[in-house]
Amino acid sequence: MHKTIPLTLEPAFVKNYRNGYPLISKEALIDWQKVTEEGSIVTLFDTHKKFIAKGYYGRQNKGYGWVLTQNREEAIDLAFFKKRLAAAFAYRKSFFEDAETTAFRVFNGEGDGIGGLTIDYFGGYYLLTWYSIGIYTFKEEILKALKSQVDYKGLYQKKRFDAKGQYLDDTDDFIEGERAPEPLIVKEDGANFAVYLDDGAMVGVFLDQKEVRKTIRDKYAKGRTVLNTFSYTGAFSIFAALGGAKKTTSVDLANRSRAKTEEQFRVNDIDPATQEIIVEDVFNYFKYAVRKKLTFDMVVLDPPSFARSKKHTFSATKDYTKLLKEAIQITSKGGIIVASTNAANFDMKRFKSFIDKAFKELKGKYSIEETFSLPKDFRVSERFKEGNYLKVVFIRKS
Ligand code: SAH
Repeated sequence: MHKTIPLTLEPAFVKNYRNGYPLISKEALIDWQKVTEEGSIVTLFDTHKKFIAKGYYGRQNKGYGWVLTQNREEAIDLAFFKKRLAAAFAYRKSFFEDAETTAFRVFNGEGDGIGGLTIDYFGGYYLLTWYSIGIYTFKEEILKALKSQVDYKGLYQKKRFDAKGQYLDDTDDFIEGERAPEPLIVKEDGANFAVYLDDGAMVGVFLDQKEVRKTIRDKYAKGRTVLNTFSYTGAFSIFAALGGAKKTTSVDLANRSRAKTEEQFRVNDIDPATQEIIVEDVFNYFKYAVRKKLTFDMVVLDPPSFARSKKHTFSATKDYTKLLKEAIQITSKGGIIVASTNAANFDMKRFKSFIDKAFKELKGKYSIEETFSLPKDFRVSERFKEGNYLKVVFIRKS
């Protein structure tokens, strides 16, 4: 059962929570030592014992838990979860009705009123991701609430319990219903993706880039040579090829990326032999490309916010400017660089300053064509703008 524990807010933080800030942090609480059990309900009061908000305790990379309601009378029970899920489904009505897109996010954590939980839809299957043991203690109610409102073929889950949000490898991520075929073919704006719901932390596609992929396909790819770095399963390459790119080159360090990328091309009726797929450290590839005087009309940069390979450590905050400088050198005049980052610790303004610095240091000129952040299905709370981690800039090299 979920014990309820009253906690006292530091005076300096009261206003923030009264205004609806959802993330519970250790610094904000005078007596957080009173909670020890994941999944406890915590009621937050000011030092005059006035009720401010109610939430749950769950340690994750971001903090100590999430506010769920500012209404003291609202119980955190089945009816509560039903209400939050129903609102989330209603918000995605147009996605459910779109036959050309059968993979999207249906519930986005605090953006939909329950931090620490996301739910993605993949062609009839639902994948729940739990970001703390605390939120996982509500699994029974949440599954019940979900099942009472949707038709589903099967349910899957990912546990990302540890403080860094790392995936906890269960032997089986399947919960109930029917097992999904492997691969399961889903659609995004008419293109196909092969996804695997029970194959480790990632399923094969990052749903938050849908608008960027569509933009590449519909507005930029035609006739261009495209270099896709940190390509994973090649999603950007697939969309570029579908948009009429002259040729795509996908580069990723992971061995599995070759077969995965070939598969994504095949399920879109593109012969992988017509495209280039390279398993290599991107930084070595840049050196090679400079030496061979290779240039591309479009270069996609989508590195992880932090990565360590044998020879290189990459941190988006420290090294993005350097990465851009490498890309600029092998982008043709008039070519496009798609610079993307999911690093939550800096904002768009700072990201643009990295871009400016890179061009200045190379004495080059550029213009910004367009920018993207999270798509509509990745709903962001007005009170938690930092939840909008995605930053993508389409840059034209002049
Ligand atoms: N752009 C991809 C997602 C990238 S995920 C998409 O749209 O789906 C990050 C990828 O970067 C992983 O596949 C990882 O294997 C790769 N990676 C990390 N460090 C790398 C490096 N130094 N060189 C090449 N690939 C790297």
